[in-house]
Amino acid sequence: MSERSFDALVVGAGIVGAACARELAEAGMRVAVCERNDYSGGGATSAGMGHIAVMDDSDAQFALTSYSQELWIQLAKELPNDAEYLPCGSLWVAADDEEFAEVERKYKFYSERAVSVEILDPHQLREAEPHLRPGLAGALLMPRDSVCYPPCAARYLIEQTVARGGEIFYNSPAMDITDAGIRSADGCVLSARFIVLAAGVETARLVPELAVKPRKGHLLITDRRPGFLRHQLIELGYLKSAHSSTSDSVAFNAQPRVTGQILIGSSRQFGVEDPTTERDMLRRMLNRAIEYMPDLADLSAIRTWTGFRAATPDKLPLIGLCPGFRNVYLATGHEGLGISTSLATARLLTDELLERSSKIDRKPYLPDRTYAPHA
Ligand SMILES: Cc1cc2nc3c(=O)[nH]c(=O)nc-3n(C[C@H](O)[C@H](O)[C@H](O)COP(=O)(O)OP(=O)(O)OC[C@H]3O[C@@H](n4cnc5c(N)ncnc54)[C@H](O)[C@@H]3O)c2cc1C
Repeated sequence: MSERSFDALVVGAGIVGAACARELAEAGMRVAVCERNDYSGGGATSAGMGHIAVMDDSDAQFALTSYSQELWIQLAKELPNDAEYLPCGSLWVAADDEEFAEVERKYKFYSERAVSVEILDPHQLREAEPHLRPGLAGALLMPRDSVCYPPCAARYLIEQTVARGGEIFYNSPAMDITDAGIRSADGCVLSARFIVLAAGVETARLVPELAVKPRKGHLLITDRRPGFLRHQLIELGYLKSAHSSTSDSVAFNAQPRVTGQILIGSSRQFGVEDPTTERDMLRRMLNRAIEYMPDLADLSAIRTWTGFRAATPDKLPLIGLCPGFRNVYLATGHEGLGISTSLATARLLTDELLERSSKIDRKPYLPDRTYAPHA
């Protein structure tokens, strides 16, 4: 049995763990990452869409997403090509007058907070995305939103950690977590002053008291059709379905990839732990997509898959000291926004460990708000 000691130990090399590791190494700490797979960027990071978006569900969500987007824009300058960063902007598509009222509400919300946004009327929407069906009410354009290929972005962040003196232990699933460190499945003990749990949905297996639940999603990618789609498109009905925490839902969500492929999402299911792709969910998801973009029916699907988002009851991530521990910190529970918010998560967590002040208030994300210790 071997034993190693570090300043900080990060459990999990998905996008959140990788971002935390790089940020901690950048701050001068001796960092180790332990990852159960033999590669980084697995888990939800390999399944997600990679849309980097500013969102307005709550002030806390807005603060985290907008802070993180600024950090992504800085990081994009150094990302390798295979991270496929594409500053394509997002269009929130309104199907009818009720949804267009939501476009106007969002426009006001973002404008008041100095986020650049634009309202497109039906004619401008057709010009922006000619394959959308006629008769839509308009859209909100968010020009600073972007997309990336998350597994390669995570790999790059791990490479940057190693370049700053960090070490990564693959094939090392963390088993026992204590304030002193972790024991991996092969008996290796890694101790550290700070332990950061960034194991996505699996974090709740390591700390069962956490109110983090898997939320299954389906995705599909088409063959190449360069120029077919120009922006990340999301139907405004998405907001209604994404908020439901009881029923299964699908919503139109389409993304242009650098490769010319179209990535189509997405579905949301609670209480399902089987990763098998379900024909019924896929059919519902595709029918919805074709309702908005009939020409999608001419493309061929080349792969379908599923992934699990780590959902919290209040839809905000858990960032900070883990209740019941003195040296164990959480960076999980990012649901469908973990790519978007990974970089700000890493910055806030590092601020907490180093007792630095943060650019935004850390309080809304502190984990003790959702902790339910056994009686
Ligand atoms: C269908 C779908 C679409 C999505 N679309 C978007 C989107 O467009 N934009 C966006 O921002 N987000 C999106 N998300 C969410 C995003 O993918 C996740 O929030 C994000 O990837 C979470 O990253 P993570 O690092 O916390 O977890 P993960 O990516 O799950 O990484 C956790 C890592 O920990 C490792 N691990 C687990 N247990 C252990 C252990 N015991 N010891 C060591 N290692 C362990 C795993 O192997 C894995 O590598 C989507 C998710 C899904 C499922």
